[in-house]
Amino acid sequence: MSQDSRIYACRGCEAKNRIFPRKVAARPNNVNCGSCGKPLFLPPDAPLTAIDGSAYQHPLDKSALEMLRKVPGTNTILRFLIRELSERRLRMYFQQAYVKVTPVHLTPLYDHIEHSAHILDLEMVPQLFVMNDPRPNAFAIGVDDPFVVVTTALLDTLDEAQIRGVIAHELGHIQAGHQLYRTALYLIVNLAQFLVGNLIPMRDMALKAIYYALLYWNRCSELTGDRAQMLIQRDYESYVACEMKFAGGCNYTNGMLNMDAFLEQAEEAVKMKEEHILNRVYSSMQAAETTHPYPVWRVGHMSEWIYDGNFLDIIHGTYPARKTADDLEPQESEEDAPSSVKELIGQWRKTLSGK
Ligand SMILES: [Zn+2]
Ligand SMILES: [Zn+2]
Repeated sequence: MSQDSRIYACRGCEAKNRIFPRKVAARPNNVNCGSCGKPLFLPPDAPLTAIDGSAYQHPLDKSALEMLRKVPGTNTILRFLIRELSERRLRMYFQQAYVKVTPVHLTPLYDHIEHSAHILDLEMVPQLFVMNDPRPNAFAIGVDDPFVVVTTALLDTLDEAQIRGVIAHELGHIQAGHQLYRTALYLIVNLAQFLVGNLIPMRDMALKAIYYALLYWNRCSELTGDRAQMLIQRDYESYVACEMKFAGGCNYTNGMLNMDAFLEQAEEAVKMKEEHILNRVYSSMQAAETTHPYPVWRVGHMSEWIYDGNFLDIIHGTYPARKTADDLEPQESEEDAPSSVKELIGQWRKTLSGK
């Protein structure tokens, strides 16, 4: 990890300030210009105007997405899922089953999503739902008009700053162009099996490749979501405490959880994960049961990012601006998909049309 200092010009008096990211990144809001005393970084309520999701996209997310898009049949399957199991119907389901957050109903939660959308400079504030569920979780669904869901257990486990951070994490997925793939995975894990039976016949190599590439990318995409979370939360310790609670928080442990011990564990975890191919196999095994990566691994990557200075660059106002064209839409046609993918889609069509 980098220990190097970086130079940041004051946005007020233009004096150059030498900054050690490792020292200040935990609480950048308290860092002032050595010359005029004004805050060196953008205030926490200032929008990151026109920021592009690529500004904070994790390299593992990027490379895994490129790999996923090269797996034959992926485009065909995902498009089918999104089109046939339509996101509009899915949204209707959440509207009927769970509690919708509005400016006048569960107002603090609305404030969190409105604030996060403002900072990330999203065009609109996505709909937020609260879902009664004993597992602490949050997710964003939908491609054209995505919405965010948080569970009741998440609200019980985290404090307000952490809840806001997790909501920002979901908006990060939306901004980084993850929604086509994440929504497809949500449909595969939660809905398609229920609707059309055994979705992925695991003996088929083409389908297996798509499924595992999707799961692997999904875990890497969490690292990007976490960075969006940090851009809003701007408090490293609070972020780590949040991840620690996901990993092992409960009434018994909460008072005893130790930040330093957890950070040390995280640094070890990152090294172990990257250094051996078998670790990736274990990751895939883990991913078969959960779509989320280990929290310690996430914290390790977060430390790297903020110590390297990229985080401070962004909140100092230096980042790539939004592109106009969305080039994330994959281009394979159904004709080119492997025959097993075409067969499977044929079966799904029959099931869905009730034949
Ligand atoms: Zn200054
Ligand atoms: Zn996520």
